[in-house]
Amino acid sequence: MCEPTGTIFTPEDFTEEHRAIAKTTEDFFRKEVEPNLDAILHQDFAVLRRVLTKSAELGLVATMIPEAYGGMEMDLASAMIVTEGVARDASYASCHGAQAGIGALPVVLFGTEEQKQRYVPRLVTAELVPAYCLTEAHAGSDALNTRSRAVLSADGTHYVLTGQKMWITNGGFADLFTVFAKVDGEKFTAFLVERGWAGVSVGAEEKKMGLKGASTTAVYFDNVRVPVENVLGEVGRGHIIAFNILNLGRLKLAMFAHGECKEALAHSLRYARERQAFGKPISEFGMIQHKLAEMATRMFVNESMAYRITGCVQEVQRERPLMAAVEEFAVECSLVKIFGSEVLGFVTDEAVQIHGGYGYHQDYAVERLYRDARIYRIFEGTNEINRTLATTMLLKRARTGRIKLPKDSLLDLIDESQQEVVAAASDVLMYTYALESADLRAAQSRSAHMLDMAEVFREFATTQIESAWRLVIAAAGQKLPPFARPAVNLVPVRRRIAARLLDAGKYTV
Ligand SMILES: Cc1cc2nc3c(=O)[nH]c(=O)nc-3n(C[C@H](O)[C@H](O)[C@H](O)COP(=O)(O)OP(=O)(O)OC[C@H]3O[C@@H](n4cnc5c(N)ncnc54)[C@H](O)[C@@H]3O)c2cc1C
Repeated sequence: MCEPTGTIFTPEDFTEEHRAIAKTTEDFFRKEVEPNLDAILHQDFAVLRRVLTKSAELGLVATMIPEAYGGMEMDLASAMIVTEGVARDASYASCHGAQAGIGALPVVLFGTEEQKQRYVPRLVTAELVPAYCLTEAHAGSDALNTRSRAVLSADGTHYVLTGQKMWITNGGFADLFTVFAKVDGEKFTAFLVERGWAGVSVGAEEKKMGLKGASTTAVYFDNVRVPVENVLGEVGRGHIIAFNILNLGRLKLAMFAHGECKEALAHSLRYARERQAFGKPISEFGMIQHKLAEMATRMFVNESMAYRITGCVQEVQRERPLMAAVEEFAVECSLVKIFGSEVLGFVTDEAVQIHGGYGYHQDYAVERLYRDARIYRIFEGTNEINRTLATTMLLKRARTGRIKLPKDSLLDLIDESQQEVVAAASDVLMYTYALESADLRAAQSRSAHMLDMAEVFREFATTQIESAWRLVIAAAGQKLPPFARPAVNLVPVRRRIAARLLDAGKYTV
């Protein structure tokens, strides 16, 4: 059972090993990524690959890969820590994330022994760069509607694969593609496809709003002969791979968001102390302090949720493999994906605002952070799709007896044919889980700063829950209970939080 003792896993529980991997990642970013950032942002892929190889030498792309294939075989918390550490720049992070996550994990977790021996040791060293090819021009959210096709050859030795994938991270230089296609137009299946094979080609770099340094291309498969040995998992069971990899990707996305938020907050704190207006630093203005406190508070909550889920997964992993453990918390993974990406949107937006006109200039990092942040609400399942998934998954689990919902639960009121209601119910779930995670962590730590942040968040979360709840109840034709709550004066609380942040000059708990 998860959280059997009523306590949740938090960053305060990190071991020496966790702290060491955090330090290694931080040093790596400072020594290898930062000095090369300009070249990376100008799509010098030779530099990007060199930096990636350096991270591989340090084991940073292989935290979750078994030692038998050259990996570090560390726990999920370690992978989350590395994710956060490399996320200070989203372009590098997306390349690193594909290498360590969605690109490599399909073969690591679903490959045959022979496939793993053939590919994983070279993924660990980054000699091979992988890419995950699910999306197509006409099939994004609706990924199972793929038009890519595979047909078994008459002699049964290979499949002939044809299709076009879109928006593929690392597409420009990846060596190994996990490609999803339908066998005989019906059976959704994953294939491992090498770049060098006849019929594989890539499109031009997409001209994106953000992630300017990342490679994002279409990838084309024109009658590619894929040996039957390169079917990944079972024919017709590709959705198991696609969705499970996405569950884990969603959890990690919350940490990518957290890493980028930390960068945005650090820039904002520095600027707020330095920038003078009306004869004093802008950090002395109440509204700026309000912003800083809200930014850090929501980051604290995202971090608390993400590590709470990580702890739950690790608990279940004692008895079950990683993918089964993550699947158990698929609802929470969707919720934290939505929450983390929306916190990132809020934090980077406020970061630009704190910088005033300079925040709108490319010389200031927050301009890039703001543009980079936008994609997080779109990939790994759009937030609309995740809002649909969270509640429907929960209802399905209740219907099939997998979980028991309390009597007279809000979920009884939901008409699943009305998407707006389903999404609002997910918001109730998300802010409730968020609030509880923040409260539990603050209570466990007894830190004055965390207790203040949990109190500030309660106001925001309660307002969100009320508004979403009103929608659900009204749509169900029920009478609305009175919602009036006593007002809490949080001005001094936020000022205390801001003072501690300005003192630290960075995100602190
Ligand atoms: C920079 C970048 C990198 C990416 N990397 C990869 C990668 O490495 N591999 C990969 O496979 N893909 C990748 N993607 C693709 C990404 O996952 C998709 O863009 C995303 O899943 C959305 O699909 P779509 O763009 O087709 O939008 P659509 O699915 O067309 O959605 C359009 C809008 O309609 C909404 N919508 C769709 N269906 C519903 C519904 N049922 N209910 C309510 N609203 C709905 C969506 O939420 C969205 O707001 C990447 C995309 C980008 C931009």
